[in-house]
Amino acid sequence: MPRQRCTGTTRADAPCRSFAVADGLCQAHNPARAEAHREATRRGGEARSATRRAARLWAAKGDEIAQADLPAMLRSTMIDVRLGLVEPAVATAIATLAKTSVALAHDMEIELRIAALERVAGVTPPNVSHMNRRIS
Ligand SMILES: [Zn+2]
Repeated sequence: MPRQRCTGTTRADAPCRSFAVADGLCQAHNPARAEAHREATRRGGEARSATRRAARLWAAKGDEIAQADLPAMLRSTMIDVRLGLVEPAVATAIATLAKTSVALAHDMEIELRIAALERVAGVTPPNVSHMNRRIS
């Protein structure tokens, strides 16, 4: 048996092309489901605009993504995963890279602060050349 089409009409007064879910009406036209439909539409719109904002952010920043941009980018990735736009494995990779980026920035700040303290104290830093070895 073919699925029944909605008996409602669009704003342009054309027959609705959606499938009926109850009482011959689709989710959008069913008054009992109108609030849920509005909510779903609103959330979809929010998610799409959050995704667009993040895309603009990525495009604008390119290689110069600031630490402060990460929370917004991670939030947008979470929404994209929920909407099925991004594979969970990709989101996991993004989260891991973000976490690594934060840890690296933290370590670099600590190194700078230690170097400043060593300068003030007149202390010669220990040989840490093994830490600066290039990966080849
Ligand atoms: Zn309809």
